[in-house]
Amino acid sequence: MSSHSEAVIALHIHTRFSDGTGTHKDVVRAALRAGLDAVIVTDHNVWVGDAEGYYRENGQRVLMLVGEEVHDRTLIPQRNHALILGTGKEMAAYADDTQRLFTVTAQAGGLAFLAHPVERAAPLVHELDIPWVNWEVEGYTGLEIWNALSEFKGHLRTPWHLLFYGLLFHQVAVAPFEEVLQRWDALLASGKRVAAVGGADAHALHYHLGPLTVTLFPYEKHFRAITTHVLLSEPLSGHLEHDRRLIYDALRKGRAFVANDLPASARGFRFTATGHHAEAVMGEQIALNGGVTLQIRLPRKAECRLVRHGEVVQRWRGRDVCAATVTEPGAYRVEAYLTAWGRRRGWIFSNPIYVMDETGK
Ligand SMILES: [Zn+2]
Ligand SMILES: [Zn+2]
Repeated sequence: MSSHSEAVIALHIHTRFSDGTGTHKDVVRAALRAGLDAVIVTDHNVWVGDAEGYYRENGQRVLMLVGEEVHDRTLIPQRNHALILGTGKEMAAYADDTQRLFTVTAQAGGLAFLAHPVERAAPLVHELDIPWVNWEVEGYTGLEIWNALSEFKGHLRTPWHLLFYGLLFHQVAVAPFEEVLQRWDALLASGKRVAAVGGADAHALHYHLGPLTVTLFPYEKHFRAITTHVLLSEPLSGHLEHDRRLIYDALRKGRAFVANDLPASARGFRFTATGHHAEAVMGEQIALNGGVTLQIRLPRKAECRLVRHGEVVQRWRGRDVCAATVTEPGAYRVEAYLTAWGRRRGWIFSNPIYVMDETGK
């Protein structure tokens, strides 16, 4: 299992094809500067498939994949934004029926993530909240547990907050909303497999201050912050079709973790399980067989906790290697926190390892 190859991805990105201000080329350049392996563009209700491919510059390369953020524009207020990836076709025609959207996505071999499932309105900047409300729907891949733009909106209680977080992007990412993690844990506790991703929701929005046009949060800033690290079954090859399949396989399983790379790179984080003649990484399952040892490796010393169905099973401080033996079935996931820029911040949120008892539960 140490043979997995890690790739860092920024996903949930908007260009001029919807409400972003940059081109696909701008996104590529920012991704190369940020050292990303891949980006996934998801414009609103438009699939710009011909932008997919490898882009190379100065001996570096980055893979651009294109999905779509699909939502029913006629809904007022707006709700239920879904990130649809890997279908290889335009999906906006299904925007008015989320269940149909997810069914067709699955049939096409694609992935569906519920975007910014919890949001807060920001009346200061005339922004309403756009949460997920259709929880009866089935057949989705997972949740976008951390969305950088939603978190920014959530901070804007006063004009002072707008100025502070608007000027100091590194202050924005504190942690995923507690309600999203609770929702995720409840779904996991019910026995569902629900994969998590982290989204930039990058727009490179322009703000006009008198004669000046200011870009609030350029793409590159986003790409150095909330990312999704995937563990691939083999290294990226440089070929679009091959690498697209590798990345989507990892995201579908949840062989991935969500990170805030701004305080410290999360590259190298690992969460693994060892059982009776069996091993697993996050996103995978392992048989309990009396007991399973979970191992956590952090790229640097941090506060770390092991969570099962919303309960903290064990907690460590100032450690970069942690281990716990568990004897109960369930979905176990890891959270790591660092102190940076004056406060405790979420750093790493792993996908679960599913520990199964003899009856397969
Ligand atoms: Zn959205
Ligand atoms: Zn978006």
